[in-house]
Amino acid sequence: MSDHQPGVAVVAGGAGFIGSHLCQALVARGHEVLCVDNLQTARPSNLQTLEGLPGFTFVEADIVRPLPEAVLGAAERVTRVYNLACAASPPQYQADPEHTMLTNVVGTHHLLRLAERAGARFLLTSTSEVYGDPEVHPQPEGYRGWVSCTGPRACYDEGKRAAEAMTFDYARMGRAEVRVARIFNTYGPNMSPDDGRVVSNLICQALADCEITVFGDGSQTRSFCYVDDMVRGLIALMESDIDGLEPVNLGNPVELTVGDLCDRVLALTGADARRVVFKPLPTDDPRRRRPDIGRARDLLGWTPRVGLEEGLAATCEWFGRELATPVEAARV
Ligand code: UDP
Repeated sequence: MSDHQPGVAVVAGGAGFIGSHLCQALVARGHEVLCVDNLQTARPSNLQTLEGLPGFTFVEADIVRPLPEAVLGAAERVTRVYNLACAASPPQYQADPEHTMLTNVVGTHHLLRLAERAGARFLLTSTSEVYGDPEVHPQPEGYRGWVSCTGPRACYDEGKRAAEAMTFDYARMGRAEVRVARIFNTYGPNMSPDDGRVVSNLICQALADCEITVFGDGSQTRSFCYVDDMVRGLIALMESDIDGLEPVNLGNPVELTVGDLCDRVLALTGADARRVVFKPLPTDDPRRRRPDIGRARDLLGWTPRVGLEEGLAATCEWFGRELATPVEAARV
C-alpha cells in the first residue's frame, strides 16, 4: 500500500464464499472492513471466523434496500467499495430470480452511490456468465457474449450485464472510479456444502456416501480457479492504476470437462465410480468456458498459482473437516 492509511473497505457479500476470504485478506492489508451481507447464502461459520478479526465489523443488511446508517455514517472514511453481493450458484440465484435481478441492479446502484458520496473506488464482481453460452473460445473481454435474455439464467447474466453498464456509466460521468472483474468458476474452502455448484456438489456427495451427480454427459467444460488466486486478483485489480473503463477477466485458464473433474474427485476421495449418476443438463447450461486472461496478466501481472490438483486436495480436506461437524453435515 501507499503511505496513507488504507481506510475502510466496504465488502458487500463479505460473509459469502469469496467475500469471506476477501475480508480476511483486506484486514491483513491493514483495512478496516465493513462487511455488509444479508446472510441469504453465507455459511454461518464464515461469519464466526470473520467476527474475530481486528478492525472487522459486520452489518446485516440487504443491498436491495437503502444502505443502513451503520454504512452511510462511515462514508467519509470509506476508500474502497467491493460488490460481491449476489447468490452465484444457478440453483440459488434461480430460487428467487426477482431478488437476484434487483441485487445486481438496485443493489449495485446503492453501492455506486456510496462510492460516489465517499469518493471511494468501486469494484464490481461481474461474471463469466456475461458471455453466456460462448461462440468464441476462450473468452476475451472484447467478446460480447451469447446470452439468452428469456431463460432461467437471465436474472443473473442480464442482471450482471446491467450492473456492468451502470458501473461504467458512473465512471464515464466522473461519479466514481471503478473496476470491473469478470469472475470465472471459483472453488475452495468456505463454499457452502449446499451451494449447488459442481465442485462443492461432487466433493460433498463423494464424502457423504450418496449419489454423485453429473449433469448431461459430462462433456461440457469449465475452468476452475482456486479462491486464494481469485482474491489476490481482485485486490490487484482494485489497487491497480489501470484505466477502469475495461472489464478484466479473472479465472484459471486450465479447462477440463465436468466428467474429468468428477474423475479427479473420485480419485481424491476414494469414492466408488458406480455411485456416479447422470442427470439432465440444466436449460442454457454453457457448453464450454475458459477465460482469456491476457489482460489481467498484462495489466496486473496476475496469473493463477494454485493448480487444480493442489486446490482440489485442499478443498476436499476442508470439506472433510466441515462435514464432520453436525451443523454443516445436516445441510447437504
Ligand atoms: N454440474 C454437474 N453436477 C452438479 C452441479 C453442476 O454436472 O452437481 C454441471 C453444470 O451443469 C455445469 C457445470 O457442472 O455444466 C458447472 O456448474 P456450476 O453450477 O458449478 O457453475 P456454472 O458454470 O454452470 O455457473
